[in-house]
Amino acid sequence: MEKRRLIIIGSGPAGYTAGIYSARAGLQPLIISGQQPGGQLTTTTEVENWPGEVDGILGVELMDKLKRQAVKFGAEIIDAFVDQLDLSTKPFKLKVNQEEYETDALIIATGASARWLGIAGEDKLKGRGVSACATCDGFFFRDKKVVMVGGGDTAMEEANFLTRFAESVTVLVRRDELRASRIMQERALANPKIKFMYFTEAKELIGEEKLEKVRVINNQTNEEQDVPSDGFFVTIGHKPNTDFLTGQVELDAKGYIKNIPGTSKTNVAGVFACGDVIDPWYRQAITSAGTGCWAALDAERWLSINE
Ligand code: NDP
Repeated sequence: MEKRRLIIIGSGPAGYTAGIYSARAGLQPLIISGQQPGGQLTTTTEVENWPGEVDGILGVELMDKLKRQAVKFGAEIIDAFVDQLDLSTKPFKLKVNQEEYETDALIIATGASARWLGIAGEDKLKGRGVSACATCDGFFFRDKKVVMVGGGDTAMEEANFLTRFAESVTVLVRRDELRASRIMQERALANPKIKFMYFTEAKELIGEEKLEKVRVINNQTNEEQDVPSDGFFVTIGHKPNTDFLTGQVELDAKGYIKNIPGTSKTNVAGVFACGDVIDPWYRQAITSAGTGCWAALDAERWLSINE
């Protein structure tokens, strides 16, 4: 059994930023990096909106820099997955790859995962025309044809955003109506660059080096057609990575951790949360890094009073 003052679960911008701040404060945090070390940014290509990186930076490179910065100040990182945790006792207990750890404070930065369709060609063409984030990748589709799937607020917002660049945006909606709020629907429906195909689902993404066309199917008539497209955006929602926390900290109806507003504090004293696991709205690397900083400062203050 190894005892720590602070353990951070997750290694996206939130986890590493919490690591940088808490390591600089001398807490020697242990970062447990999870199933996808570096988080969602490692699945994108160029990141052009990280402040200070004037010429853009590859997602993988940015995460490597954050990691090295955390290590430089004394954070220890293990590429492992938390199998079990018990937040009902103090110190908190974690089981990681059969090893047991105890910690006085815990920061949860496990992020969220974009939901994908799981259709043929999707995995192969990710990063080659296929994306789950218009804010991240929309810029690359200037004067191009884009297809997206989803009928919620995210889809409407991202469709509108994409029309700043793309020549046309075709939205596939599996029912005969949108789920999005009225105002978001009205805005998208009024946009001359956006076309809707109702009762329509994507069946296959086709292309060799990059996406060339989307095979769609009308789920009422079973009629199929190929829609030529340079980009394909999946905007059917995100899922916070909190399955392992059920019954341990308070979650909202969609599984996001409920924080005390304006702080990183959860309902369990000594447990803090940051990044996409608390944020269904902004989901940006920079906002995650910001709340990662909150969590480190909140944990540091909490430890100074309670240790
Ligand atoms: P939602 O769950 O609201 O919508 C998901 C959409 O994707 C629905 O249209 C759903 O269809 C569709 N969908 C889900 N699975 C599939 C599938 N396998 N194939 C095809 N279509 C599928 O997710 P969002 O990300 O849009 O929104 C999440 C939350 O964030 C919401 O509460 C939303 O209001 C909020 N939000 C608010 C914004 C704002 O106010 N500015 C901006 C962005 C998000 P169906 O309806 O048939 O289930």
